[in-house]
Amino acid sequence: MKLILIGIQGAGKSTQGNLLSKKLAIPYLSTGHIFREIAKEKTAMGRYIKEIMNAGYLIPDDKTNEIVSEYLSRPEYEKGYIMDGYPRTLTQSKSFKNGIDKVIYLNVSDKEALWRLSFRNTDSREDETLAALRKRIESFHKFTEPVLDFYRKKGELIEVDGEKPIKDIFQEILGKLGVKI
Ligand code: AMP
Repeated sequence: MKLILIGIQGAGKSTQGNLLSKKLAIPYLSTGHIFREIAKEKTAMGRYIKEIMNAGYLIPDDKTNEIVSEYLSRPEYEKGYIMDGYPRTLTQSKSFKNGIDKVIYLNVSDKEALWRLSFRNTDSREDETLAALRKRIESFHKFTEPVLDFYRKKGELIEVDGEKPIKDIFQEILGKLGVKI
């Protein structure tokens, strides 16, 4: 099964992604994690990615598409995956040819996401300043909401209330995917 997780930062994508990965026995990957690894490299590319991420901006579509398609061509993702953080723009959605079964949207208000993130341990996240968080929320409304409409029209969108308890959200997703609990 090929699944996409969409939601603002703090919506619980990695929590649900990891639960789904265990339950469905398919790998979970996140573009945020991939980019954070690249940003650690002491190369021109590493510095470039780091600068964009720390400012809370999106990595350009061309670069993102290239990196994601390289990852998804690996044998471990052949049978399926749970992808967190991609596609995030309409251009990325339109150029994504890897096949998708369902897109899961974890709907959480901006206020709730900021509240949750203010409690998150940010030691390992250099890109989680308040200014960057606000920028990311702004980018979500501007660039990622059209992605939701794109998949909604195709009948591939599963929308869940991301403010419910973790277990309830997980069960709702499984139910909407038609997976036995
Ligand atoms: P995340 O952990 O998903 O919040 O991603 C952290 C950062 O990685 C984002 O703020 C972007 O700078 C970058 N990023 C992750 N996924 C994408 C994407 N699909 N397109 C562009 N930039 C991305």
